[in-house]
Amino acid sequence: MEYPNTPFKSDFNTEILTKTHCDDACQEVDSNSDELEGLLKWLCSTPNITSLRVNTLTNDVEDVLNLIKAYLNDNNIKVEIHPILKEVIIIHNIPIERLDLNKEKQEVIIDVHCGASVLRGAHIFAPGVIGMQKGAQLNDKVSVYVDVNKKCKKGFCDIFNLGRKVFVGNGVVKMTRKELFCDNNSLKGIAIEMLATISGCPTLNINNLPTGSCILQNLPSIICVYLLAPKPNEVILDMCAAPGHKTTHIAALMENKGILVALDKIQPKINKLERIRDEFKANFKAFRADSTKILLKIENNMHSSNNVLNGPPFLMESFDRILLDAPCSALGKRPQFLNDSTEKIIRSFVPLQRKLFENAVALLKPHGTLVYSTCTITLGENEGVVAWALKKFKNLKLIEPPSELKLGSKGWKGTDLSDKHLSYVQRFDHLSVDVDSVGFFVACFNKS
Ligand code: SAM
Repeated sequence: MEYPNTPFKSDFNTEILTKTHCDDACQEVDSNSDELEGLLKWLCSTPNITSLRVNTLTNDVEDVLNLIKAYLNDNNIKVEIHPILKEVIIIHNIPIERLDLNKEKQEVIIDVHCGASVLRGAHIFAPGVIGMQKGAQLNDKVSVYVDVNKKCKKGFCDIFNLGRKVFVGNGVVKMTRKELFCDNNSLKGIAIEMLATISGCPTLNINNLPTGSCILQNLPSIICVYLLAPKPNEVILDMCAAPGHKTTHIAALMENKGILVALDKIQPKINKLERIRDEFKANFKAFRADSTKILLKIENNMHSSNNVLNGPPFLMESFDRILLDAPCSALGKRPQFLNDSTEKIIRSFVPLQRKLFENAVALLKPHGTLVYSTCTITLGENEGVVAWALKKFKNLKLIEPPSELKLGSKGWKGTDLSDKHLSYVQRFDHLSVDVDSVGFFVACFNKS
């Protein structure tokens, strides 16, 4: 397969991935560079499965499984319910020997983000197309390439040889050059319908399934909510909730009973969160809030009643469980063709994650559960934050995941975390045996 070898720009110093990013604890990880190379290669490749979580508030898992099988309409595609996570449907990639990946004469060039979506089963939508050869007609078969180094100009009309291009698969033209590049207001809809890709991921347009019946969600995100273990009638906070994929899962495990509060800093994201809530018929209250500033500081909690349904700020020790799915450098995305992240951006997240964590600990009731997660791979944002938290909050204990939910690999060395603690946190990466998904990190704590 023609995946590129590293997702980062050539001047990117990968040492930043294995440092704690904070001046007070700047140690380098003890890992060897072969291992890092393996991880970076893995980030360039596509997960070998697609996972969908069924909305159990409104749907039966078997019913949705049958709908998906009917939609895919191909007995060669293996579709099954996950053996442990019973509301999760797994669609396996098709072995590529079975696919027609012979290159066509006509070519289409797409951007790196669109390329990543195509390899995970999307058709090509108009905004993702950068170039299409002159002469390509509606319903022509074309080969699709990703412009890895962003050298192709919008509207390009020839064979592209000015930069690195990677073949991702074959598709059929559904929009002409004129529609794509000359008519300004037509940049919507499917431009190329994909027939086969080098990842073998079946094309699935989730919009063709009943609204609110299920959601495309990576397995580590699902495991993360299982570790939180929400129960009916509890009081639960999702501190960084939009677009709400995990919030709707929490609501489902609570059976819509109890109090669930979801926060996000950005208003348009709250609007989206509320849309998903309504589609999923999930019961939670959403508020726009900066979760670094949601603690109501009153000397004695006795003075005030604690109605979290009114939104932040909240009194200390208000919640039974808190999910902190933190803003992060998001380096765990798969597949990646090119990553433009800079060291400055990557370093900027740890102070924010610590502030959010401080609020989470204060808002958690004694004996409450806190789950901290990121979709990134750096030591600083993952083990670094856990090590800092265990040092700062003596009332926090890192919890060992139940064996059936221990599907990731152990944490990286390079912080104060003991071997025992490294085996309690979970990294989802190239070393995880049971899950081939995106890069992800999760740790679960209990407060005494
Ligand atoms: N949990 C979400 C899900 O599963 O759908 C994904 C959350 S995403 C990793 C992180 C979110 O944190 C973003 O939506 C971002 O807007 C939000 N965010 C960033 N800084 C924040 C802050 N200070 N307070 C609250 N939300 C914040």
